[in-house]
Amino acid sequence: MEVLYNSTRSKINPVKASEAILKGLSEDGGLFVPDRIPALDKTLEELSEMTYGQVAYEVMKLYLTDFTEEELKECIAKAYDDKFDTEEIAPMVEAEGAYYLELFHGATIAFKDMALSILPHLLTTSAKKNHVKNEIVILTATSGDTGKAALAGFADVEGTRIIVFYPKNGVSKIQEKQMVTQKGKNTYVVGIHGNFDDAQTGVKQIFGDKELAAYMDEKGFQFSSANSINIGRLVPQIVYYVYAYAKLLREARITSGEKINVVVPTGNFGNILAAFYAKQMGLPIDKLICASNENKVLFDFFQSGTYDRNREFVLTSSPSMDILISSNLERLIYRIAGNDSERNKALMEALSNGGAYTITDEMKKQLVDFYGNYADEQETAKTIHDLYDRTGYVIDTHTAVASCVYEKYKEETKDTKTAVIASTASPYKFTRSVINAIDSKYDAMEDFELVDILSKLSGVEVPKAIEEIRKAPVLHDHICDKTQMKQMVMDFLGI
Ligand SMILES: *Cc1c(COP(=O)(O)O)cnc(C)c1O
Repeated sequence: MEVLYNSTRSKINPVKASEAILKGLSEDGGLFVPDRIPALDKTLEELSEMTYGQVAYEVMKLYLTDFTEEELKECIAKAYDDKFDTEEIAPMVEAEGAYYLELFHGATIAFKDMALSILPHLLTTSAKKNHVKNEIVILTATSGDTGKAALAGFADVEGTRIIVFYPKNGVSKIQEKQMVTQKGKNTYVVGIHGNFDDAQTGVKQIFGDKELAAYMDEKGFQFSSANSINIGRLVPQIVYYVYAYAKLLREARITSGEKINVVVPTGNFGNILAAFYAKQMGLPIDKLICASNENKVLFDFFQSGTYDRNREFVLTSSPSMDILISSNLERLIYRIAGNDSERNKALMEALSNGGAYTITDEMKKQLVDFYGNYADEQETAKTIHDLYDRTGYVIDTHTAVASCVYEKYKEETKDTKTAVIASTASPYKFTRSVINAIDSKYDAMEDFELVDILSKLSGVEVPKAIEEIRKAPVLHDHICDKTQMKQMVMDFLGI
């Protein structure tokens, strides 16, 4: 049965999956949502016999219903290959009774790779299906992780170019090095004088420039976005929850149908929304445990029913979760508003005008499956330290936020169901914070020296992604003012 996509902000003519992927965002500013959540059509036992790629097909075919079997299987094969450092793609590690689902074995060692390694193929396939002749130009503003994962995903993908803007002084050394050493003749990386918001605003202006769009079209180009609100990023994220459950079943850690809890360190609400969709598809998940850092806008929302971004923005050691507007939450709000785009739109307008909205009690009741909590900086560091001390297993700062919140949840509820914790980044990506948490005596050392220390402490080999950038030549040294971003784009395209 075909799944079509509606907008969360107005009644539109529903679009096919490939059109939703191409557009990214609906013209009315809304997010695309499937008109129903399909049920898994394989049993958990059947899924437990499958490889990651096979599970990916079984899940994604239910959402991307206008892709042929051949098209989808080809996208999957191109995405989940030896770019990952393990055939398992998403292995699980047990520590102190919880299962850490390691989503960081891809090219850039953060969980963004799980979706961004397949999005370029979904996008080029969608372009073909819709007879788009233009070259697709991906434009991205990044605060670090997304930019590199998008670059790695799109590098040398035929029919695409990718341009990434990052705040010149606003990303970590390792993050910057990862980006400016990116290979691929279709890649372009620019540091801007300004912060992430400036980069983001500049990109939005370029996207909204109708004259530029017409000129680009004349020259054979059109823009698209690799943003986390694209359903081409959301759908691939459902896969690993199904895969994790199936694997627990295969290894007889759970019995068929037994409910598990899922813990997700959350920023833009994409990863945990994917877990929610997995549950709606019939995967036996009980609680969705939403973990925030000190930017605890989601925790407050689950407590009070009021989403309020009017607060100080805190820079933490888990920067990929330093977010005050969780864009993907809109899909959940739309749903609990009874799939009513007018009601959702009113709330989103309140958010953009006054920075806050409050849901009704009846809507709040539908959030029973979610549990929110947060970890402050000290608790996060202590979690890394103590887990390492007791087990020798090293987790990154984002995963530590989740681990800490999971402990709080158990303490509060005494619920000891089997739990899967989404482990979203390799500790090598946030080496300094991780090492500092374990032992502060290394603080004066250089970033790459710390990498070697981490390898000694954890007994885990330095990942290829880090080894490569140690000596890699800088291939991108473009810097511009925030007012020159459009010109940089035109220069790169040669138009
Ligand atoms: C992006 C990111 C997150 C947050 O994921 P969302 O889908 O935005 O909630 C958490 N951890 C890491 C390492 C990330 O890169």
